[in-house]
Amino acid sequence: MKKKVAIIGSGIAGLTIANLFKKNSNFEIMVYEREKLLSLEEGYGIQLAPNSTSILNKIGLSNIDNKDFFNPSKLNFYSCDNQKICDLDLSRFNSEKFKYTTLKRSVLIEFLKNKLFSNNLRFGKEVKKISKIKEKLLINFKDNSNDLVDFIVVSDGVFSNTKSVIENKNIQPIYNGSIAIRTIIKNLSEFNYDKNNISLIMLKNAHIVIYPINKKEELNVVCIIRQKLSNNIDLKELINKEILSQNKNLENLFKNQLEYWPIYTSKKPSKSIYENLFYIGDAFYTFPPTMAQGASQSIEAAYELFYLLSKDNKNTPELFFKKRLEKTKVINRRSKLNHHIFHFSNPLLKTIRNKSLKLMIKNKFFLENYIGKVYN
Ligand SMILES: Cc1cc2nc3c(=O)[nH]c(=O)nc-3n(C[C@H](O)[C@H](O)[C@H](O)COP(=O)(O)OP(=O)(O)OC[C@H]3O[C@@H](n4cnc5c(N)ncnc54)[C@H](O)[C@@H]3O)c2cc1C
Repeated sequence: MKKKVAIIGSGIAGLTIANLFKKNSNFEIMVYEREKLLSLEEGYGIQLAPNSTSILNKIGLSNIDNKDFFNPSKLNFYSCDNQKICDLDLSRFNSEKFKYTTLKRSVLIEFLKNKLFSNNLRFGKEVKKISKIKEKLLINFKDNSNDLVDFIVVSDGVFSNTKSVIENKNIQPIYNGSIAIRTIIKNLSEFNYDKNNISLIMLKNAHIVIYPINKKEELNVVCIIRQKLSNNIDLKELINKEILSQNKNLENLFKNQLEYWPIYTSKKPSKSIYENLFYIGDAFYTFPPTMAQGASQSIEAAYELFYLLSKDNKNTPELFFKKRLEKTKVINRRSKLNHHIFHFSNPLLKTIRNKSLKLMIKNKFFLENYIGKVYN
């Protein structure tokens, strides 16, 4: 008999695992999303490293319209005065079939959604209670409907309310002390950076990442600034004070509509009290954005869990958690270190950083260990 899988949350993690299960006739899936519909507004850009594009290729990533994504081949490092320090060759981690890819989150979500049947998705659903009935799990939803399933995959993002309901305790992420300001720039005549690759500008207590998200000359700009949490942030004023005071020429980047959100990270990776319930994506662990691995890890976790469950491995809960924990530790350490290094203010530290960067990006051992371990 087919195994029934309920997936809670239709973000990148939930839709990826739904697509993987859909290709296996031993499983029957249903995705339950809290919102009334899938948000396909413009959204921000995301970077997908080869560790996730290799998985998305299995479900046809290459069929996305060629104009709607980009394959940058370099990451350029700049100091706050627009001096290029060096560049990292990203293409060395690519293969013939899967490449470092940048695109709009909405393009990825739409691609993942279109691969599912509409009767695989239910909207306006929020979990009220989970109970164990013999080997199965009974889900009670707030609208009084229910579903009895073999497995539950929870992928409801950074604030994962479902996690607090299931584990019966209030589990909240922590504010990491920074906000992310995002905007999209188009057809800029005066642009001092590389339009075809990723640019990282390192400033005091802030950094800016710019990259193309398609072949229509649209670039995603994300500016991470250390900032106390507050409800009322005047973005123009903040950018003037924290960014333009360091480099007036960056003004061009912030002329379009700006949006911001506070950055939250998880306290620790999540393991359920139930053997047949799993957390993936940000619900498992939310990373700081400085390795650009949040979405890629969501996809990787979806694949690892799908693989173990499809092999009917009895030790799935332990194996899945162990592997995820190892990878989470590696990425978390690097993300925190990057965050610190990108924001140096001391001139001596900055000089040492820039010199070391130039050496390290040519060092094979460093590349294979620091980055290759994450991207492979
Ligand atoms: C500034 C910034 C930049 C980033 N840049 C990158 C990048 O370049 N590369 C990268 O790989 N990652 C990046 N990330 C991280 C990445 O966006 C996330 O890690 C990824 O989207 C997580 O996917 P997810 O499916 O776990 O969660 P989400 O995408 O948040 O999806 C969760 C889904 O669950 C639904 N939901 C919520 N609550 C419930 C509920 N109670 N019941 C049912 N459904 C519910 C939501 O509506 C949503 O549809 C960035 C993050 C930030 C903050």
